[in-house]
Amino acid sequence: MVPEHLAKLNDYRSIVGDETIERIREKATALRGMRVAHMNSTYHAGGVVEILLSLTTLQNDLGIPTEWRLLRGTEEFYQVTREMHDAIQAGDLDLTAEKQQIYEEVMAENAMRNQFDHDAVYLHDHHTMGIVAHARKRGPWIWRCHLDLTEPNPDLIAYLKQYADRFDAMVCILEQYKQQSFDVPQFSILPAIDPLKPKSRKLDPQEIEDRLAKYEIPLDRPIVTQISRFDRWKDPHGVVDAFELASDEVDATLVMAGNRPADDPEENEIYDDLIERQHERMLVVDGTDQTLVAALQQHAAVVLQKSLREGFGLTVAEALWVGTPVIGGNAGGIPEQIDHGTNGFLVESVDEAAHRIVELIDDPGRAAAMGRAGRQKVRERFLITRLLEDHLDLLAGFEARFIPT
Ligand code: UDP
Repeated sequence: MVPEHLAKLNDYRSIVGDETIERIREKATALRGMRVAHMNSTYHAGGVVEILLSLTTLQNDLGIPTEWRLLRGTEEFYQVTREMHDAIQAGDLDLTAEKQQIYEEVMAENAMRNQFDHDAVYLHDHHTMGIVAHARKRGPWIWRCHLDLTEPNPDLIAYLKQYADRFDAMVCILEQYKQQSFDVPQFSILPAIDPLKPKSRKLDPQEIEDRLAKYEIPLDRPIVTQISRFDRWKDPHGVVDAFELASDEVDATLVMAGNRPADDPEENEIYDDLIERQHERMLVVDGTDQTLVAALQQHAAVVLQKSLREGFGLTVAEALWVGTPVIGGNAGGIPEQIDHGTNGFLVESVDEAAHRIVELIDDPGRAAAMGRAGRQKVRERFLITRLLEDHLDLLAGFEARFIPT
């Protein structure tokens, strides 16, 4: 049996209509046989993984052989890339010669272990970007950056320029993320959710109840939730602070769901701090179980994504798609998704978030109307078929010399 999440293009017909499916098929036919590779740094957790799962499956279904490779790094390498991650999103940076060496060695090793003789190669984020220094190109090499580039650390941008300029294209999320100092053609493609993923499946009330009960999440009060990695840019402490403030006015339960951090010291520290703050009405749960994520997104009175920096924030589109309004930080890609007052609220402080939690819990009718508006917005702009089509257009746009005959 083919697992549900390995949907084929035809399966989206009832959601996006015949015209879209036929247009995509036609575009894919022109690229048939083109061999594409993607490389990123993890198979676990996060928006990049969500997108690659769907994109690679769909491209293969369309006759564009597409594979997905994984970078192999050391613990110290991931420490360096974590610092780079923070610096890309506006943190401080001390990129010493030693750290550069750690980074560059992993790039060289991975370049040696991998043959990239594909017609197009995508390297995702800074974790894999430096492999381009070792490229023997047979087609376009594309740097896909998933991070918030609103205010990147200039020293890091200066360092990454040596790599960025070797690509044939850089694809960021928003127009405003483009980097003036890079000498590479730059495009923007908005991320998207897969409406046929298990996580997007509509659960019946009993399934929701059973799944939440399994994690000892009480159903006697409205649920407020944030489903995110325990990353400081996602502001998990701000969410708890906002909830505690809101609790003076409404009775609710907060569920902080997140993948238990593996090897990230900073995320581990945040996780431990949140565990310390747990109480009967503030629960921290592991968010690996996708049916639990679905149950939370569908049952919650309100979903939060109170990020301070956010490349896009797939969790916002996911919640809107299942009809739940979202309170989101006014950062990065979140304002692309939330129309303030229509399908959720944009907030810039703990106080504002608290105030909006109270407002949505106090007025379920308005919350439901906002959820409906959210679903419509996602249908128009943030479904995987649109993202697939954008990538087909991107690939078709390269010079003819790159396209196999
Ligand atoms: N996610 C999940 N369980 C968790 C935390 C996150 O399934 O405990 C999923 C979430 O539903 C979304 C993705 O991971 O599909 C996170 O993507 P997003 O763009 O919001 O953030 P990123 O982690 O890429 O910064």
